[in-house]
Amino acid sequence: MNLLPAIVSSGAAAAAGIAAWGAVAPSSELFGPTVRHTDSSRKIALTFDDGPNPAVTPQLLELFERHSVRATFFLIGKFARACPELVREISACGHLIGNHSDTHANLIFQNRAGIRDELARCQDAIGAATAAEPPRWMRPPYGYRSPLLGAEIRRAGMRGVVMWSKICWDWKPQPPERLIERLSRVARPDRAFGDIVVMHDGDHRSLGGDRQHVVRALDHWLPRWRDAGMEFVTMESSSGTEDSNTMRSPRA
Ligand SMILES: [Zn+2]
Repeated sequence: MNLLPAIVSSGAAAAAGIAAWGAVAPSSELFGPTVRHTDSSRKIALTFDDGPNPAVTPQLLELFERHSVRATFFLIGKFARACPELVREISACGHLIGNHSDTHANLIFQNRAGIRDELARCQDAIGAATAAEPPRWMRPPYGYRSPLLGAEIRRAGMRGVVMWSKICWDWKPQPPERLIERLSRVARPDRAFGDIVVMHDGDHRSLGGDRQHVVRALDHWLPRWRDAGMEFVTMESSSGTEDSNTMRSPRA
């Protein structure tokens, strides 16, 4: 996802004013309904962008198996084509797979055909790797949405866009202690909703990126969150959410 460099380097987005705000603000409804938190403070949705990554994703799968956690992985199509067995394994372990575009393109700069192609090629790559249904949820690279994206997502048969309520600044190698500290702000029982946390198991620039701080930080927090009574949910839901900003009755 890599939000900050994209904002800094994207003069066009900055110049676009309200459009840029609508594109990057997780709470923005300017470009259509968006899921951005869970429906209960006891439910955490852990989401991972920019994979699959053979250097990191298998470690996360093992960690999640050990702690009975289900998560959502927003995959880049070109990496899914490079690592189809890993895509299959993510799905076989019971995690949900979402669409994070085919090349990690900034969709603000794509026309309708370009967006359609990014969505379709990623769907095809994931579909070719798994026997599961094609992804129903999408997370745009850098969190950038354009006015065209919602219509193209519906056209592709997907349910909608997933943003986040917690961002972890985890897209560069760093000591795990920093991420452990940031994640201390997740799981607050005093609120009316729960967090969708965005993290990264991959590096959109190349396969094999170092995300060991993510593995280490989750190794720290998963048993603590579990002991605190938190439930881990994926983005899948048993009831309609097209018009909702909240996941309802999610399945773990
Ligand atoms: Zn990304």
